[in-house]
Amino acid sequence: MGGERGTKGRGREGAPLLVRWFRANAREMPWRSRPLGTRRDAYRVLVSELMLQQTQVQRVTSAFERFLERFPTVADLASAAEPEVLALWSGLGYYRRARLLHLAARAVVRAHGGRIPGTREELIELPGLGPYTASAVASLAFHEPVAMVDGNVTRVMLRFLGRRGSASDPKQIAWARERADEFVRGAGKRPGPTLAAEGLMELGATVCVPRGPRCEVCPLAGACVARARGWTDAIPEPKRAKVTPVVWAVSVVVEDGKGRVAIETRPPKGMWASMVQAPTIEWTGTDRDAAEVAREALAFAPSMKLRERERFTHQTTHRRFEFTVLSLRATDRVKRSIERARPRVTWATREEIAEMALSSVQARVLAARD
Ligand code: SF4
Repeated sequence: MGGERGTKGRGREGAPLLVRWFRANAREMPWRSRPLGTRRDAYRVLVSELMLQQTQVQRVTSAFERFLERFPTVADLASAAEPEVLALWSGLGYYRRARLLHLAARAVVRAHGGRIPGTREELIELPGLGPYTASAVASLAFHEPVAMVDGNVTRVMLRFLGRRGSASDPKQIAWARERADEFVRGAGKRPGPTLAAEGLMELGATVCVPRGPRCEVCPLAGACVARARGWTDAIPEPKRAKVTPVVWAVSVVVEDGKGRVAIETRPPKGMWASMVQAPTIEWTGTDRDAAEVAREALAFAPSMKLRERERFTHQTTHRRFEFTVLSLRATDRVKRSIERARPRVTWATREEIAEMALSSVQARVLAARD
C-alpha cells in the first residue's frame, strides 16, 4: 500500500480541521485544561499520563485527586517514602509506574532544581518517561509541537496515510511517531499543534476506533487514504496471537482470633514488587493441587484444615495468573508452622493492611474470611 508521501501536505489540510473538531468534541476530563489548549501544569500532566497508561479513565479520576491532595508538588512526591506512594497508587495496578514516577520526581529535584524540564529531549532522560509520556508533558505543559503516540494514534496514522501494519508493532509505532509529529505541526502556531496532538488521541479513542471506525463523522475523512480506498477494515492488521504464559498461585489467608491476618512483603523486583500479600506461592508449568502446594510450602500438618474460598484468573499484559485462595484459622500451632516456614511474616488487621501497598488482586484475596 502506498500513500505515505505527503504527510506534511495532509497535515496542513487535516490538522486545522482536527483542531476545530476537537474544540467541539473534547470529552470532560479532570486533568483537561479549560479553555482547551491552555498550558497545563507539568506535574499534573506527568501524574495523570502515568496513571492513564493501561488503566481506564474512570479508575484514574479518583486516584488522581487523592494522589495530588497528598503530593501537591513534585517536591512533596520526591520526599515521600515509597510505601506511601505505592499505597496511594492502589486500585490502579501496574505499580512499576508509581515507582518510576517517584524516581522521576526525585530526578527532577536532584537534577533540575525541582522544575520539570520543558522539552521532550530532556524529559525522556527522566526515569520511566518513554516517548509517549515525554511528548505528553512537552506538548500539554510547554506547547512543544510534538505528537503523543500510543496504539490509538498509531492506528489513526496508519489509516490516514494508508499504511499496512499492526498498531502494536514497535516499528509501526516508531513510524507513526515521526508522521504524527509532522502532522501536528500542520496545525500552525501554538497552541495549534498541542490541540492537534490531543485531537489525534481523542479521535483514536472515539471515532477512528479499532473496529467500525465512524468515518462519516471524522474530520479527517476528506484526506484519509484508508477511507478513500476502502481499507479501513484491513488497517491496522490484527496483531499476531501470542501465547500468554500461565502462572499458578495459591494464597493462604490465615486469620487469628483478633482479626489479624498473616502478611508478607514481596521481593523488591518483579511483579507486584515490594507490595504486601497473604502468604502466596507461585509456580509455572503444570497445574498442581493448590492445597498440597500450600501445605508443603507453609509446613501445615494434615490435620490443619484448609478451606478453599475462591478461584479466579488475573490477566496481566504478559502473563495469566490462576489464583486459588485458601483460608485457615490461626491456632498457636498454625502460627508456629507459618512463622517457621516464612520467617518474615507479620500480623496486621485488614484496616491496617488497607493503608499499605496492596495490589487489587491481594485486596480480593484478603477479602476471604475463614
Ligand atoms: S476517515 Fe475513517 S479511517 Fe480515516 S482517520 Fe477518519 S475515522 Fe479513521
